[in-house]
Amino acid sequence: MILKFLDIKDPILRQKAKKVESIDKKILGLIADMKETLSEADDPEGIGLAAPQVGKSIQLFIVNFEKLNRVIINPKVLSMGEIKKTKKKEKTLEGCLSLPHYYGPIKRPNEVTIEYINENKETRQEKFKGFPAHIIQHEIDHLNGRLFIDHILEQNAPLYLFDGDDFEEVELT
Ligand code: ZN
Repeated sequence: MILKFLDIKDPILRQKAKKVESIDKKILGLIADMKETLSEADDPEGIGLAAPQVGKSIQLFIVNFEKLNRVIINPKVLSMGEIKKTKKKEKTLEGCLSLPHYYGPIKRPNEVTIEYINENKETRQEKFKGFPAHIIQHEIDHLNGRLFIDHILEQNAPLYLFDGDDFEEVELT
């Protein structure tokens, strides 16, 4: 089932999501629906989807980027790299399915190590580097009620609207 995205102003997107207590049929059904919703998203294409974006304030997100396919439940950040000012690659153009067609360059640590539970109820520790590290941090932000536009404001970064051909700089309101 394709799930509906909450409006960007919905307060659920600003809540701290609750821990998943048990990975039961209901959660597995939600994961299946989230996977379907993410794979159907093509304008823009999605690479990650967090449960709060579809109205469920629980600590669960999925990632589907090239060979990186993960279901991540109750993530805990174990360590994070530093943001090195000199490294250009630490700035990534980020967008979000909750705010389609808007993008902005955001600086984040280029490395993050997390512990989480997967859909098979296995506890995993994993280190992510480069762009996948940015995706993981973006999704964990969703579980903490943070959105990429918060980073845009804090970092005084520009926000662009992509109209299909060009990026146009817009004001964040
Ligand atoms: Zn997002």
